[in-house]
Amino acid sequence: MTEIIDGNAVAQEVRDGLGDAIDTLADAGTTPTLATVLMSDDPASETYVSMKQDDCEEVGIEARDVEIDPDAPADELFDTIDELNADPEVNGILVQMPVPEHVDDREVLRRIDPLKDVDGFHPENVGRLVAGNARYKPCTPHGIQKLLADASVETEGADAVVVGRSDIVGKPMANLLLQKTEGGNATVTVCHSRTEDLAARTRRADIVIAAAGVPEMIDGDMLAEGATVIDVGINRVDADTDKGYELVGDVAYESAKEVAGAITPVPGGVGPMTRAMLLWNTVKAASLQTETDVGLP
Ligand code: NAD
Repeated sequence: MTEIIDGNAVAQEVRDGLGDAIDTLADAGTTPTLATVLMSDDPASETYVSMKQDDCEEVGIEARDVEIDPDAPADELFDTIDELNADPEVNGILVQMPVPEHVDDREVLRRIDPLKDVDGFHPENVGRLVAGNARYKPCTPHGIQKLLADASVETEGADAVVVGRSDIVGKPMANLLLQKTEGGNATVTVCHSRTEDLAARTRRADIVIAAAGVPEMIDGDMLAEGATVIDVGINRVDADTDKGYELVGDVAYESAKEVAGAITPVPGGVGPMTRAMLLWNTVKAASLQTETDVGLP
């Protein structure tokens, strides 16, 4: 029987587990606070930000909502980041990407105080992750690591194939799987758009993590019997629904399920974990900044 890995349930466990840490911080006089900064009028970005704020409020994290006109000069965003960096009540800063083209997104990542960088994208935090001394693990790969642990998937000695090499998913995922720690010690292959014969690589894998953004590109024929399949993709494809589209992953779920030992659905797999780990990082940020031990690794 193929195990369907339930991201909603594990995300709920993560949120529940943060309760004690938030109480400990409250006893020390701190309410963890996340500032979200939106410089876009893209409806998808607006939705993502409002979901993140709702998630915060649900667990007792204060959400501060900062909106900047997408036509404003880049300095308005940079000044806002500077102010949030300097504000002792703000523990985490999240600038919703993408920012408008006239804003240098690398400068945005560099500008955020690394101690408040709850996305884990500041070069200092990227460096720490690579060096095996992570401060804030990027939310999606961190969430996947938790899903694998919860499903008792052994990573040590496993052949793991990560499909995708983005800075937010593929690269940090590969790095986490490589670390000499629990949830690591895998033999990792990173595949990407120039990889030749992807199927030959995925077929050898004990764990396949699909993060290419290509609808249903990995099917059952590309998998080893019993493999664990983590589908990161969220792709809109035309469909005969009220909205005119549906969301599908990078994995052809029905055919993959026939072969896989365990698999994440889309939706309800990786997505909820990404959201939960942002809360985790925000609580961790508050704990680091106030030097209050709340027991989060
Ligand atoms: P990206 O576009 O930045 O990177 C995609 C990567 O896939 C690239 O490195 C590219 O080389 C590789 N790729 C593209 N086509 C390929 C192919 N045919 N074969 C092999 N590799 C190929 O995307 P991203 O930001 O890493 O996101 C990937 C997917 O995951 C998207 O669908 C995105 O919406 C989704 N996503 C989901 C979550 C979540 O929480 N579930 C979080 C982040 C991203």
